[in-house]
Amino acid sequence: MDVRGSSMKILLVDDVQMERIQLAIRLKQLGHTVEMADSGRRALELYRDFEPELILLDVSMPDMNGFEVSTQIRKQYPEWVPIIFLSSHDEPSMIANAIEAGGDDYLIKPVNKIVLNSKLIAMQRIAFMRRELKQKSAALAKANQELEQLAQEDGLTKVKNRRFVDQKLQEMILLHGRHELPLSVILLDVDKFKLFNDNYGHIEGDKCLILLAELLTNLFVRSGEVVGRYGGEEFVIILGYTDQEKAIKDASRIQSALTEANIPHEYSEVADMVTVSQGVFTTIPSGKESIEQIYELVDKQLYQAKQAGRNQYISVHQ
Ligand code: GH3
Ligand code: MG
Ligand code: MG
Repeated sequence: MDVRGSSMKILLVDDVQMERIQLAIRLKQLGHTVEMADSGRRALELYRDFEPELILLDVSMPDMNGFEVSTQIRKQYPEWVPIIFLSSHDEPSMIANAIEAGGDDYLIKPVNKIVLNSKLIAMQRIAFMRRELKQKSAALAKANQELEQLAQEDGLTKVKNRRFVDQKLQEMILLHGRHELPLSVILLDVDKFKLFNDNYGHIEGDKCLILLAELLTNLFVRSGEVVGRYGGEEFVIILGYTDQEKAIKDASRIQSALTEANIPHEYSEVADMVTVSQGVFTTIPSGKESIEQIYELVDKQLYQAKQAGRNQYISVHQ
């Protein structure tokens, strides 16, 4: 890997001004960006904002020595930035201490020019690989997030899919059971949708479902509210922490929003626009209910709303 010519952000820490400046000039001549600190404390302050790719760290400094600074950095920051110690002491035990304190290399002062250049190239390779790794893991995290989102959503309408809703409902039953809180579920079905498809075509039918999904998504934004596609032209809304009175208001809000949206359906036999029938079910669960039991009870209400003439909701608390 040829990394010559690529630059690094180097944090240079030395309490002696002369040495600091001389080394900084050499590093800058090699094309690197250098930030200087005259004490360990200052180095720790600079570290966060500067985000160095290499740290050149003097060992003997008055306030905190280099080993203490290194130990602090390793403790505070999980990301591994290479540290090279600079010291005039060449005893093996010092080198052992340097590595123990989280250092990666150790150079004897005055630093030989050729040695320094070679070490910098080695560190550049590491910096380059770290950058690549960082980019790759960020891309991977993003892809994972998108995948997770896709696995949860309905392809056509982009609301939550049935699998997600089933899982959420199961969790909500347990949670509300544990805290003895009311849980409501609305199941809604488009009225005379077969006639909509038969007369306007399936593509228009799809568009209508997308519109309806958008409308529902805009109405239910609180945490604890989930809008999902139950199947075909049926949508389900889970309303956490919601009693019967509030659930009825929500069903009524859906009706009003649809009236306002005024999606034409001249073949409907119910109205001259798209309408829905809704079953509304509220319970303070014991926690032992199955999702099938809940669906059956809410579906019963939906069926009655259909029987009673459509474009309405029927609510029950049990
Ligand atoms: P009701 O008022 O009793 O609900 O009458 P309906 O016509 O809506 O009920 P029915 O169950 O007879 O018909 C539902 C229709 O919904 C039939 C089916 O083609 C349509 N449908 C289901 N899923 C989709 C879809 O994803 N896209 C489109 N365009 N139509 C769908
Ligand atoms: Mg249906
Ligand atoms: Mg229908």
